[in-house]
Amino acid sequence: MSGSGEREVAAILEECRVLVEDPTYPAVRRWREAHPGGKVLGHFQVYFPEEIPHAAGMLPVKIMGAGSTVQIRKADARIAAFVCSIIRSSLELALTGRLDFLSVFVTPPICDAARNACAVWVRNLPSLNSQVLYLPQNAASPHAAAYLRDEYRRIAGVVEEAVGRPITDDGLRRSIALYNENRRLLRDLYRVKRETPWLLSAVEAYTLVRAGGLMPREEHNVLLRRVLGLLPEREAKRQDKIRVVFEGGYCEQPPLDMLAVIQDACYIVDDDLLIGLRWLTGDVPTDGEPLASLARAYLDGSSYSPVQHDPRKPKPEMLLRRIRESHADAAIVAAPKMCEPGLEDQVNHIRALEAAGIPHLVLEFEEKMTVFEQMRMEVETFAESLLFDFA
Ligand code: SF4
Repeated sequence: MSGSGEREVAAILEECRVLVEDPTYPAVRRWREAHPGGKVLGHFQVYFPEEIPHAAGMLPVKIMGAGSTVQIRKADARIAAFVCSIIRSSLELALTGRLDFLSVFVTPPICDAARNACAVWVRNLPSLNSQVLYLPQNAASPHAAAYLRDEYRRIAGVVEEAVGRPITDDGLRRSIALYNENRRLLRDLYRVKRETPWLLSAVEAYTLVRAGGLMPREEHNVLLRRVLGLLPEREAKRQDKIRVVFEGGYCEQPPLDMLAVIQDACYIVDDDLLIGLRWLTGDVPTDGEPLASLARAYLDGSSYSPVQHDPRKPKPEMLLRRIRESHADAAIVAAPKMCEPGLEDQVNHIRALEAAGIPHLVLEFEEKMTVFEQMRMEVETFAESLLFDFA
């Protein structure tokens, strides 16, 4: 790649890293300056149909904790210390005014902690319209699609009230087309991870993806298209590293330094990091009834995670498929501390990996971790033992 191409990639990655690490949401503040009176909807992990607020002219933003960038003080007085960090740090962001740009906050009831957190937001942030998006408990039920379409309609009503105008079907179709493009580009990015992981490190790929939840998706599409165009020219040599799938990044996010520790010893060729941004695995139709199409896509054309229960998608088998399809040698099955759904699935994953004879490393993390020496040793030992076996 030419020097100017590499400099351009580096500049884009740096821009994304700033967005990921700055708890003041600089891209949101820039958008509001450019759109005086523009409204912002924040949504908690894991998946939310951003097309709905986007079609109303709102800026949808992912609320995904604060990593180690804020000290949790005010939230600790309102939520018990045994609750996972992302719930507490997200509330801390709100209580300290860092989310003062939000008009609406929506959380899906992905677990007991998230379900109860919404009530805490309602009580402590009375000027913010906080809502639960009630996703269907039984995704395989024949009534789930109609139920979810109606629930999306209810949320669309909340959004319409916030902006003071109706959402049209044509507006929704345009937003679906924009998000389809974003999901296609993310799939292309993951293709690079699988096929030529030496061209894009795990941390680089992750910051590129995560930035999408923090900036207007139109801008994210431009940035992804540019990077994807430049990557094939990158001069990077393939290294002798094992190929792993990382599982456990669906909700609370592992620190960038943890991913850096893993990428030093392994190629992460697939993962479930921020799976909500890639939840819909194909294009959502842009004809027909848009909210019904979004509901069907959530149920029938989607990935898997510990927070969705769908008997059609047995999670251990889905993990084995992810490993097979990415030609991974091994898996790293991580879970956030205090995360009941994640720790429960971790047990099932381990059983399935043992039965299939797939090497795996089990890790636990917290978004605010800052010391990784022990983890580095574990990852290196794991990777070296496999390289030795393969030799
Ligand atoms: S990390 Fe786990 S426990 Fe915490 S909000 Fe997410 S799913 Fe719930």
